[in-house]
Amino acid sequence: MSASARIGIPFVIAAPSGTGKTTVCRALVERDPLVDFSISHTTRPPRTGEREGVDYHFVTAGDFRTLVGEGAFVEHASYGGQNYGTSHEALRVPLMELGHDVLLEIEVQGAAQVRDSRPDARFIFLLPPSMSVLEERLRGRGTDSEEAIHRRLGVADRELAAVMGFDYAVVNDVLEQTIASLFEIIAAERDGREAVLARVRERFGRDRVLAEWRGKAGGAA
Ligand code: 5GP
Repeated sequence: MSASARIGIPFVIAAPSGTGKTTVCRALVERDPLVDFSISHTTRPPRTGEREGVDYHFVTAGDFRTLVGEGAFVEHASYGGQNYGTSHEALRVPLMELGHDVLLEIEVQGAAQVRDSRPDARFIFLLPPSMSVLEERLRGRGTDSEEAIHRRLGVADRELAAVMGFDYAVVNDVLEQTIASLFEIIAAERDGREAVLARVRERFGRDRVLAEWRGKAGGAA
């Protein structure tokens, strides 16, 4: 490692389901060669086009339990009846020592566990433009029963409550703006100088963004 190389930062990005987290995270990884995905383990079967070791490490429920028993995970959680986990290995990739940042696109229970064990991690929460927009998105094509929609809205509400454990919040309204905001946060954290961090906190600090978001019609949560 050269003297000037910086150690990468783990960035945890979480959001209530329906907020568009995956699209945003993909754009960050595609556009910045120094941002890599952390590859999680999961018990859910691969979807069409997903590849082992690229999208996830796909494992059986038994293998997952064994890994949990061995203490292999920084965090793990159950979501939609499947298990998901970030291994210590995923955050120890040699590339981090060469200044590659690692993106953890995970759900909120896991994010809380990362906070306890990785003081180097930074936490960014994506907010939907408003609760009514989120409800529209969760209603999707209108094929779900009212009960299923209510269940998903309840989950989204609980996920939203987790925002308090995060450093930054960004409202995902216009995709390109969201991506630009996230790159500003990443750049400031890489820079690390207090004055630079203070500026980015001023714009994207959780409390500030939440207050504005709640102030908007439909944003009350
Ligand atoms: P999907 O099955 O759609 O790929 O992911 C379902 C949910 O699990 C998403 O919210 C995703 O961010 C989350 N997830 C993916 N990998 C992990 C992980 O390693 N840990 C945790 N806690 N959640 C994960």
